[in-house]
Amino acid sequence: MGGEVREMATPYSNQKVLILGAGVTGNAVAKALSKRGALIGIADENKDSIFDYPRIELDSIDLTQWDSIVVSPGWNESHPIIQAALAGGKPLLNEIDIAWELHLEMAPSQKWVAITGTNGKTTTVEMAASMLRSGGFHAIACGNVGETVISVVDQNDPFDYLVVELSSFQLHWSKKAQFVSCAILNIADDHTDWHGSFEKYVQAKISLLDRSSTAILNGDDGVVVEKSAHWQGRKIFYGLDTPNPGELGVVEDLLVDRAFVLDPQEAAMICELVDVKPTVPHNVSNALAAAGIARSLGVTHEAIQKSIQSFTPGRHRIEVVCEKDGVTWIDDSKATNPHAAAASLLSQLHVVWIAGGLAKGAKMEELIARTKVRIRAAIVIGSDGEIIAHELRKQAPEVQIFKIETPGDYLKGAESNSLMEAVVKKALEVAIEGDTVLLAPACASMDQFISYSDRGDRFAKAVKKVVLHEK
Ligand code: ADP
Repeated sequence: MGGEVREMATPYSNQKVLILGAGVTGNAVAKALSKRGALIGIADENKDSIFDYPRIELDSIDLTQWDSIVVSPGWNESHPIIQAALAGGKPLLNEIDIAWELHLEMAPSQKWVAITGTNGKTTTVEMAASMLRSGGFHAIACGNVGETVISVVDQNDPFDYLVVELSSFQLHWSKKAQFVSCAILNIADDHTDWHGSFEKYVQAKISLLDRSSTAILNGDDGVVVEKSAHWQGRKIFYGLDTPNPGELGVVEDLLVDRAFVLDPQEAAMICELVDVKPTVPHNVSNALAAAGIARSLGVTHEAIQKSIQSFTPGRHRIEVVCEKDGVTWIDDSKATNPHAAAASLLSQLHVVWIAGGLAKGAKMEELIARTKVRIRAAIVIGSDGEIIAHELRKQAPEVQIFKIETPGDYLKGAESNSLMEAVVKKALEVAIEGDTVLLAPACASMDQFISYSDRGDRFAKAVKKVVLHEK
């Protein structure tokens, strides 16, 4: 089909579609729908954003001019335009559901798999897609990772499976897409400012079950277990202990399958623990979830093991920058919420912890309670660094805390800013042999950095300069 679709009559022909948000998703939807004859306008909060479609000023939108509204995932339901659209009964569409409808037309035999969770989505989606490919399927990871779902669907490439990473925002908006198998990795405090409460965030995550026939669920996560209890579909639990019949888990140094085997009294080996890299508990958990998805679609244990052996997570996820004088320097800048930071801290024994940034409404009590025995010292930065420092003083007064203030003339993104150098110098002063200096901020980065990758890159660069004396 590709570019020729422009000539076809489609349900979108001559439909006036207003897209809220000019990010990657909004632009991908605009491209797919304008190819199908829709008349597109885009409204964006950022007055400087540039795009190829007519800009509609937010404060002058006349909803009667539009047949439907497409909401980009980050847009909140409380936005006045969305409220007005809801009150006026205007159809509110979203990228995932539009992509779902397009796939029914373009690749009807293609199947979709979905993965959500507070943490580990990208890693697990990539693992699962790699396992499916290893098993001989034509599969791609998409959604919040790589390309948007709609741009993958709109290619002339008939994938057998899309392995879709879904955020809580996407789940909040999407109602139609159906999944042959899904996984919920964990549910912990994150994005409560957007959803309005933890309960609403949980509901968004759990709503995935209503659109799936098989679910691979983390049995070690109390919230996942409790909130999925009502669901009547096929549930497969996994965890880091010896699995019961019907589950996946760990026995001694092996990941094992007792769910997708002929005799559940037997346990089939999936792989060795050391095949999972980095070999830390939460990553083993992700591997089990991905293996569950792959097994539910018929991939053999051998193909799964092969895939795990050749897999490494993406950048800024427990990435070792260097080891020098018995101190390991790790960039886990992607730990943008307390739950991810907890997993990271618990995977090390003695930590000089670099933390802080934007907490997004998350609380730090539980994080500190669970991890304080691993923390030797903390270096805090950013807008909400004080929330972490406060909690440490309260629960772990023995932990040394250093606050690195943001210089008055600080310019986010500037080549010259040396905040991370100051952080690394302090860490070098404090760290002793056997320590890990761990950037796992428990917070988003946008108060001081362009993104989590900018934050991680600056950390790694500072480590190379200050610790390794590289130019
Ligand atoms: P997401 O796409 O959900 O943000 P990533 O795979 O990008 O997930 O990982 C995000 C952060 O969470 C990283 O810091 C990573 O080390 C950590 N993490 C990955 N998997 C898990 C897990 N199962 N539990 C807790 N933290 C995890």
